Amino acid sequence: MTSRAADRDPLTIVVAAFNEAEALPSLHPRIAAVLDGLQGDVDGRVLYVDDGSRDGTWDVMRGIANGDARVSLLRLSRNFGKEAALTAGLDRVEQGAAMILDADGQDPPELIPQFVAKWREGYDDVHGTRVGREGETWLKKTTAHAFYRVMQRLSKTPIPADTGDFRLLSPRALAALRQLRERHRFMKGLFGWVGFERVSIAYHREPRLAGKSKFSLWRLWNFALEGITSFSTVPLRLATYLGVLTALLAFVYALWVVAKALLWGDDVAGYPSMMAVILFLGGVQLVALGMIGEYLGRLYEESKQRPLYLVDSWRPGLEVSSGRVHGEGESHAYRTTPAGRQGA
Ligand code: UDP
Ligand code: MG
Repeated sequence: MTSRAADRDPLTIVVAAFNEAEALPSLHPRIAAVLDGLQGDVDGRVLYVDDGSRDGTWDVMRGIANGDARVSLLRLSRNFGKEAALTAGLDRVEQGAAMILDADGQDPPELIPQFVAKWREGYDDVHGTRVGREGETWLKKTTAHAFYRVMQRLSKTPIPADTGDFRLLSPRALAALRQLRERHRFMKGLFGWVGFERVSIAYHREPRLAGKSKFSLWRLWNFALEGITSFSTVPLRLATYLGVLTALLAFVYALWVVAKALLWGDDVAGYPSMMAVILFLGGVQLVALGMIGEYLGRLYEESKQRPLYLVDSWRPGLEVSSGRVHGEGESHAYRTTPAGRQGA
């Protein structure tokens, strides 16, 4: 196998997993079978990223790696969230293309050859677009549907609808993605930002193999806010428009109040209209301040320049080692600070 590896393009399947001890044992044989089938074409490897799991996922991963030399393992020091875990994984892919797959089997590995075929045709970003989602609640499906529509309207970055992280990135798309080191990482937006030749593959999203979704509605809502504020400044502009509009309304109203007093005199009253104005303006100011706070918070986060994740252990697959995947054993924290600069 290894002797011919040199003339085949490397393809690394990157799988981020958080508490997926039940799902991984049935997922890996499926991936392995697909890679076996692709052997003549690509030099397939798998990289499992344990995103700070607490349920024995790491032990399961080690078991898998012991039985398959193509498997590399990466363990983060705690749960950093899927976006950071994927970043950590993709950072470790030194050569060839990368394919992102969920650990729960919702993205069927059996479709990998189709993605590879598109990559062979010259596409850089081959992404899976869901045409059906089984085993998901009605609420999740509708909110997700709405989210992608809103996102497309608000953002100039092309973000294909109903498309998750299930995708293959060519070496140059991967290299480009690596240059984006922002802390608020909305991966779907980052993939879109990179551009290049893109094509989508329609697929049915299967139900989870085991366990339950890590994304509660509340987490999804925050994720949506993350996406919108990371890839659009429309809400900021909205605050400005709202402010201008209310200021105008208040001005007209004030004119009318003065004119009324001049024409017909002013009998005490005043209290209700005063309250209405104060409350209304106060509300509008709070809305605007809140939005400014959102972006200010982001600036604050970015200004800290923290590493995106910290690695606990890194164990390259036996077949993958020999310097083809970088940084064996070293504790790896990606820095954006230019070499030579002090601090960080
Ligand atoms: N995941 C992760 N870190 C997290 C949450 C999730 O690596 O903090 C992984 C998870 O193990 C799975 C993928 O991200 O492989 C998608 O998560 P999940 O299936 O819970 O989301 P859903 O498919 O319900 O949107
Ligand atoms: Mg899932």
